[in-house]
Amino acid sequence: MTTYDPDNIFAKILRGDIPCHKVYEDDAALVFMDVMPQSPGHTLVVPKAPSRNLLDADPAVLAKMVPLVQKIAIAAKAAFNADGITLWQFNEPAGGQTVFHLHYHVIPRYEGQPLRAHAGKMEDAEVLKANAAKLKAALG
Ligand code: AMP
Repeated sequence: MTTYDPDNIFAKILRGDIPCHKVYEDDAALVFMDVMPQSPGHTLVVPKAPSRNLLDADPAVLAKMVPLVQKIAIAAKAAFNADGITLWQFNEPAGGQTVFHLHYHVIPRYEGQPLRAHAGKMEDAEVLKANAAKLKAALG
């Protein structure tokens, strides 16, 4: 299927049908912690407008996302004392995508530390809660 499924897990989070560890919200986007972080502080930036991924997204939506991704990346680098940030965005299963609502991964990185597996191990809810609070504080 290459159409948008309104019952994908991020659509449910955007509707408030299932919870998330929220960091930030505005008219255009919701930002929350990845539940299977590949590095401490792994955060997702999710536009509210429905699109499956980059390939079917409205360019006007995309134009709003990069400044927000930058804001989150700067705050995450400070909040988690990271040496760098990896930005990822996957499209279709062959491109590594597992949730079919457009999103950007903001992943704090540390010198010499490899990433954990993509969508691998569920993090403890208390850790996610604490990391969301740290990132929120860094955003001011
Ligand atoms: P992608 O492969 O780019 O579609 O990535 C989907 C990401 O969503 C993975 O990193 C998962 O760990 C993450 N994920 C899946 N379900 C949830 C959820 N309920 N809340 C937060 N993150 C999730």
